[in-house]
Amino acid sequence: MNTFRAPKGTYDLLPPDSARFLAVREAMSAPLRRAGYGYAETPGFEHVGLFARGVGESTDIVTKEMYTLTTRGGDELALRPEGTASVLRAALEANLHKSGNLPVKLWYSGSYYRYERPQKGRYRHFSQVGAEAVGAEDPALDAELIILAVEAHRSLGLREVRLLLNSLGDRTCRPVYREALQEFLRGLDLDEDTRARAEINPLRVLDDKRPAVREQLAGAPLMSEHLCADCAAYHARVRELLTAAGITFEDDPRLVRGLDYYTRTTFEFVHDGLGAQSAIGGGGRYDGLSEMIGGPALPSVGWALGVDRTVLALDAEGVGPELPPATEVYAVPIGEEARSALFALVTEVRRAGVAADFAFGGKGMKNAMKSADRSGARFALVAGDRDLAAGEVQLKDLASGEQTAVALDGAVEELVRRLGRS
Ligand code: AMP
Repeated sequence: MNTFRAPKGTYDLLPPDSARFLAVREAMSAPLRRAGYGYAETPGFEHVGLFARGVGESTDIVTKEMYTLTTRGGDELALRPEGTASVLRAALEANLHKSGNLPVKLWYSGSYYRYERPQKGRYRHFSQVGAEAVGAEDPALDAELIILAVEAHRSLGLREVRLLLNSLGDRTCRPVYREALQEFLRGLDLDEDTRARAEINPLRVLDDKRPAVREQLAGAPLMSEHLCADCAAYHARVRELLTAAGITFEDDPRLVRGLDYYTRTTFEFVHDGLGAQSAIGGGGRYDGLSEMIGGPALPSVGWALGVDRTVLALDAEGVGPELPPATEVYAVPIGEEARSALFALVTEVRRAGVAADFAFGGKGMKNAMKSADRSGARFALVAGDRDLAAGEVQLKDLASGEQTAVALDGAVEELVRRLGRS
């Protein structure tokens, strides 16, 4: 038995399952790449202060879930719990916002870390694909991002994703609402922790899932009733654009999110086949974040889609992206001379764009044919001394068992033809 195991709340991605993860990441980023989003990659860790200020001092992410460390040099760092603050920090640091070409549109993909209580769909190391559009206040940009996420879900074949939509107002109307909500919450019978939360971040109380709290929240004032004229018009426009694009959404006036930086448009994608961890992605507008981390005013909007949970959603619906075969052709040499000839042929086959593998390790013919079958390849290329002397190689269809001799120097063309590539 191995001495070491993967740390609690983490899991390894290995073949064959890992292919689905790659396909999901690809499907999530493809619509972004077609819409002018450029790839961004930032470090896996940042100064703690970036998240404390950016995500919010009172959020669960910052108070309970960050993996923090002090370096030998005395820097306080944290493994990134989310992507937005890092990507905005990077864009500001590189002065992308001064390029004269706003919004700056970026997408990213990577690992994120939260010290959460692990359960199915909730891990301490997970994977997201995200997008940020920095430096423009335009309802069409909010709509664009939502549409691109929906395209990703559609291209994966997911049918049971619901889009929840809300507006959290801005610095004009939210404080007024916040006070009204606080006033209401003070009149409820809440435990000490929740009362404390109501004082620091009352909107988060609306998200409480406990039935006893939910019941009392039935008559709570809602942000939608308190939106200022600008926010209401902005939100109406986002809704109009989504409707015109044929996007179905549900207004969810109680949708708040676990991060403090959101303003105006907020949304979440949920999948009902996943149980408690149903959010497969979410995002919104964060007009104040740049200033919160020391930058200029840069109204922005973004989202992050969870790769792990999206794979679980595909499992739940029994659908999946079309995966190209890992190996299409498997070469089986018989004897030393054939090893050299077939090894060279495999390289040529690969250069022609066909996925090919080789019976490494000097295994015998029987074992090598077993490996060929297991690889999922459609064809085996088999050759021994006699074949080579005749300038030929045997091309075996692994499904039908039918075998034909083809000229060694025409084998690549023949394979390409049989695979329907030419
Ligand atoms: P958030 O930044 O919390 O809105 O996360 C965006 C998306 O990332 C969520 O909708 C989930 O799909 C995914 N996600 C967040 N936290 C976790 C986690 N601990 N484990 C797996 N996926 C997660």
